[in-house]
Amino acid sequence: MKRLLILFLVLMMTAACSLTSATQSPLPAAPMPVSAPPTFAPAETIPAAAPTASAPTLLYISGTTHIESKTQNWPQVDAYLAFLQQVTALGIKWSVGADVGWLEGEPRAAEMIQKSEAMGVQWDVHTHNVADRAKAAALITQMGGHPTSVVSGMVVTELDGLRQPLSYQGFTWTPQVLWGGSLCNKHAPECDDTAAGIWIPLSAEQYATHDPNGTLVRVGCGTHKLDDARTLAQSIASGQYAYPVISFTIMVSPSSLKSLELGNGLTQSSDGLEQIAAFVHEMNAYSFVRWATIEETAQAWVQAGSVPSRIEMP
Ligand SMILES: [Zn+2]
Repeated sequence: MKRLLILFLVLMMTAACSLTSATQSPLPAAPMPVSAPPTFAPAETIPAAAPTASAPTLLYISGTTHIESKTQNWPQVDAYLAFLQQVTALGIKWSVGADVGWLEGEPRAAEMIQKSEAMGVQWDVHTHNVADRAKAAALITQMGGHPTSVVSGMVVTELDGLRQPLSYQGFTWTPQVLWGGSLCNKHAPECDDTAAGIWIPLSAEQYATHDPNGTLVRVGCGTHKLDDARTLAQSIASGQYAYPVISFTIMVSPSSLKSLELGNGLTQSSDGLEQIAAFVHEMNAYSFVRWATIEETAQAWVQAGSVPSRIEMP
């Protein structure tokens, strides 16, 4: 059992959302005015609203799964599709980030992409090799999918390399949203960024500093812990924040379908679909909770005025 746990932890170290905060300078607590919202292709036709003091803080919650290239933790296709059917029926907007090993090696990848997209699930770009990002987007497209503009997981030193379109064999993919990020190439307490909220990273060195003139929108995932999302919602309900939009992402393992948690590395909790369903019902009691994918969360943030809302979480 212990060996299994260690194996799982090693596997998960290469997954998901990570980044260190040790060298990051925190954003000021008060929202900063933003003169020019970044351009988002899907949002260009929608005029950006200026934030107002009276506007309520909205908590955008997304759900996601990473599938790695190594086969050990691949989802069982039918079980995972059933899970997606159930979580989307609950109202959670889900996305999947699958590395190229799975996209090329899973015989039913096209089927999973197409059937999940029919449920409203989005496919983000999650790869560990920088050069594979455009390839992953190309593979998703070749299999009938529609990759989002989300870089789902990165090392912060990759930031500058994501500021331009990426190409693979004539296929071009343009990153617009960043999710996850690490100063290390692993999950560890000193590496993972567990901040919730949304901002535009200024640079790899000042990743937590908002750049009002930047374009790559970072959607903070928080710790993924259901209880931390509950605490965040309670803080919003008590009027603790003035930000128009705050983000949080829950995440599940593709094989166990249990909730994953950041904080002491990336670890698996005992929370499955039943606990997630209870969480959804609790969150729906708050008028300010919105269910949106990671990309939709970034778009909503831009439309609400691009007010940075980085919130450190335990
Ligand atoms: Zn990964």
